This record gives sequence, structure tokens and C-alpha cells, in this order.
Amino acid sequence: MIDPWQEAQTHLKQVVKTAGLKTGLFNLIGQHDRIITAKLVIKTDDGRLRSFTAYRSQHNNALGPYKGGIRFHPQVTESEVKALSLWMTLKTSLVGIPYGGGKGGVVVDPKQLSTRELERLSREYVRRFFFAIGPDVDIPAPDVNTNAQIMAWMVDEYAKLAGSSRPAAFTGKPVSLGGSLGRQQATGRGGVVILKEMAKAYNLKPKTTALAVQGFGNVGYWFALLASKAGYKVVAVSDSQATLYNSEGLDIEKVKQAKQAKGSVAFGPGQKLPTEAVLTVKADVLVPAALENAINKTNVDSLTARYIIEMANGPITNQAEKILLDKQVVIIPDILANAGGVTVSYFEWVQNRTGYYWEVEEVFAKLDKIMVKAFSQVHNLASSQKLNHRQAAYVVSLNRIARAEQARFYS
Ligand code: GLU
Repeated sequence: MIDPWQEAQTHLKQVVKTAGLKTGLFNLIGQHDRIITAKLVIKTDDGRLRSFTAYRSQHNNALGPYKGGIRFHPQVTESEVKALSLWMTLKTSLVGIPYGGGKGGVVVDPKQLSTRELERLSREYVRRFFFAIGPDVDIPAPDVNTNAQIMAWMVDEYAKLAGSSRPAAFTGKPVSLGGSLGRQQATGRGGVVILKEMAKAYNLKPKTTALAVQGFGNVGYWFALLASKAGYKVVAVSDSQATLYNSEGLDIEKVKQAKQAKGSVAFGPGQKLPTEAVLTVKADVLVPAALENAINKTNVDSLTARYIIEMANGPITNQAEKILLDKQVVIIPDILANAGGVTVSYFEWVQNRTGYYWEVEEVFAKLDKIMVKAFSQVHNLASSQKLNHRQAAYVVSLNRIARAEQARFYS
């Protein structure tokens, strides 16, 4: 069993060493500030009591309030939430938004709850963590299996407890409740901006560049759709049931309709293959957009892609990464590739706090600018210092955190 927090720490330590950063920095951010655990008890529709373990990890707030999603998944563990919160610290710092890193999770399979039960669970989460979150303290958002509706219940519960409207306490809300235009597409869109920048840097032509996208949730869907609209050939997409393949490129809208109607991408137009096939089909760019550790020692040797864009958080194990880097595979790390989501979360928070709402064009223009800048900083540092992209991204990010920590402690 891979321990995500151990993995994340080992990796961080290696980067600090390779890049010659001060080891004091590792001691500072190698540990999370605190993790809060709670037992959420709700009444089921048939009147029974059920309890669920829930977490909120607050990793570091040197640059601003803790920020990060809440995931609902049966495999959530304390270690996973801690690792995800560390990556949020690195991500927000890398793109230069004024936040630290946090993450929450509930050990639950939301598919087994009714809508009413899901609402009770979401509201209970807020009741139990109310004392530790808020617009200036820690701002949650959607993550795996959570969405705008869940944020709506949460922000409503928060407002009741606070005794006043506090839209900036959560991001990723429905637009009708103060959500930002463009937040739904933001992670996928940001990833496609990175894809385009990467293509420029490595001289890839959209028409002849085949993409395989693992995962067809909000992130995978938007990435696949926007990449295909930008002229790339999305030859494979997958979900937990199947991979759908077409060497000429899939019609992503049609795949989405099929998934909505029948529950899986398998029913879309294309060749149906086993779920794992998405990783090994012939493609130039592989885009893991599902869960952690999807690429690991059991499958890494059968990958064919020369480029990987990590849209999921932590989709490659340390061991698999080493093998891929030895083969010169270019890996654009999660903290850069999927930062579009939290970036538009930041815009949402700004809009909530100023009470002035932006057109979607403004949101996208500002998002694109931040993503392009972050890519060039990372890519330039990687090229000039002979680092891989993850190391370079960590260095940019850690230096910002170090400057903030230094200003607080040593001036
Ligand atoms: N869950 C997303 C992430 O991992 C978004 C977090 C946010 O918007 O705060 O980046």
C-alpha cells in the first residue's frame, strides 16, 4: 500500500535537496499545521443513524488563508488528505494567488446516499468544522465527488451558523449563489492553456497530436472538450467502467451525452476497451484526470505517451515517475497543470468580497494570463537549471513560501 503523505514528504525532501534549497524550509513545510478529525452523524431516510469519518487538513498559511477542496470518497484517509493539502500549498503559491493550502475529505461513497442524505452530510460537515473555516481562515471548494450543489448546501449552513451571508467562505458555488462564471470549466481550461504552451515549447502540432484522457468527471470532460475544440485529437477517454477509443479522435459532446444518458463513456461512439487501456493506447499526450497513483509500477512500463499532463492530483507514484523520467517523458506536474480551478476559486472569492461580478471573458482572460505565466516560469527554470518540470515548479513555489516565512520570522 502506498502511503500518500509519506510519498509526498519523500518527494518534497528530494526536491529541497536536489535544488539546493535550505533544509529549514523542509522542516517548515514538511509538516502540516494541523488536521482536524470529526465523526459526522446523520439520519438516513429510513430513520437510522449513520456515522462517517471526516477530515480537514490545514497545511500552511504563510501566503494567505488555507484553501482547498473537500472530497467525498470511500478511500479517503488522513494520510491522503494531508498530502493533498501540501499540494494545495504548493499550487496556490506557484500561481501566485494569496492562499495557503488545505484539504478536506469524508470517507463515504456518495453514490450510495440519497440526495437528502447527501445534503444532511454536507451540512453536518460545516457544523462540525465551522470553528476552523471561514473567508479569512480556510476556504473549501469542490474536489472529487463534490460539486456546486454541495457547496450551495455548505455555504447556506455556514451563513446560518454565522448569522449573516458569507459567500466568500466557500468557492465553486452555483452562479446563483455567488459562484463565478467560468468556475465549472476552469480546471479543464487551465489545463488546455498548459497543453498549448507545452505544444509550443516542444513543437507539437495539434492536428497530429493524439491525447488520451483518463477520467471523465468535471476536469476530464472539460479538458477533453476544450482540447478537441482547439484542434487536438482526443483518441481515448475513460471512466471507472471503460475506455472509449477512436484513432481519428472522439466526438466529446456525444460521449458526454451518452455518459449522461446511460452512465458510462462506454455507450458513446467509438471502440469500447477495458478501463486501464486509456493508459496504454497509442497517444502522444497522456492526461490522467482521475485519482492518485493511477500510474504506478504495475502499469508504467506499458505507457507509450511522451508527454503527461497531470490533471488529477498526485496521479504518478514516485517510483513510476523515476522510470518515466529515465525514459525522457515530459511530465507537467499537477500543481501547475490543474491550478486553473483554484485560480478561478480565487477570482470567485475576490468577487464575493468586493460584491462586483465579472463577465466570463474577464475571468478567462485573467485565468489564461496566470496559467501562461506560471508555465513559462516553470519551463524556463527547468531548462536553465536542468531540472524536471516538477522540481522546477516546486522550486518556484517553495521560494515564494520561503520569502513569506522569512519576512515573518527574521525581519
Ligand atoms: N479541488 C481543486 C484542486 O485540487 C480546487 C480547489 C479550490 O478551488 O480551492 O485544486
